[in-house]
Amino acid sequence: MTPQHKILVVEDEESLATGLLFNLGEEGYDVMRAEDGRKALELYRTNRFDLIILDIMLPYIDGFQVAEQILGDEPQMPVLMLTARTSAEDRIKGLEIGADDYLTKPFHLKELLLRVRGMLKRKAWYQSASDSEPVVKFGNNRVNFADLTASSGKQNFRLTQREAMLLRYLIEHKNKVVSRQELLKHVWQLDAEIDTRTVDNFIMRLRRYFEPNPSQPVYFISIRSAGYMFRVNCSGGNRS
Ligand code: CA
Repeated sequence: MTPQHKILVVEDEESLATGLLFNLGEEGYDVMRAEDGRKALELYRTNRFDLIILDIMLPYIDGFQVAEQILGDEPQMPVLMLTARTSAEDRIKGLEIGADDYLTKPFHLKELLLRVRGMLKRKAWYQSASDSEPVVKFGNNRVNFADLTASSGKQNFRLTQREAMLLRYLIEHKNKVVSRQELLKHVWQLDAEIDTRTVDNFIMRLRRYFEPNPSQPVYFISIRSAGYMFRVNCSGGNRS
């Protein structure tokens, strides 16, 4: 038997929360619910969760602040944000804080269950990848995929989970062209519904972190009308 995953549902709408708890329970997840942001942080501190489903509009402390606190503490925690707003800025903000994914209300329960399954699968992929090769170096850069710390020779910093996943995927496909669609599918597990500019924004962030000169990238190369390539010199490395 696979171990049971524990999920925290943070949702103030009674009927929606009840439906989520029931359906996630039916899928075999162990579920707890918080009805506001304060309770969410309280439960987070006293339990171990594998994934958090987090509404943005909440009493006391909103979902963004809850996400910031949890991800500051545990950057690898998968967070699925629920938003009633359709504003792209909200979605981008959530993803930039380090939330893994989002759904706009109203959504189909089936869609949510698919996302949850995808996020847990992605977490397992990332976990096994970072267990087998936690530290990767290229140029003056060094990334620890286990604790998300990184250094570029110029500065030390911490990646978000999503940045780390994107970088990990590019490293696993080094010196090959990967399309934006492929990145969306594997790193975000989304189809075309999210703007492909999200990928471009994240690539720009990786360039700012790791490129000696971000405007003249040598690692994160744009391939016109095709996508991106993580280009590394394979000779002389300690990786086979
Ligand atoms: Ca709400």
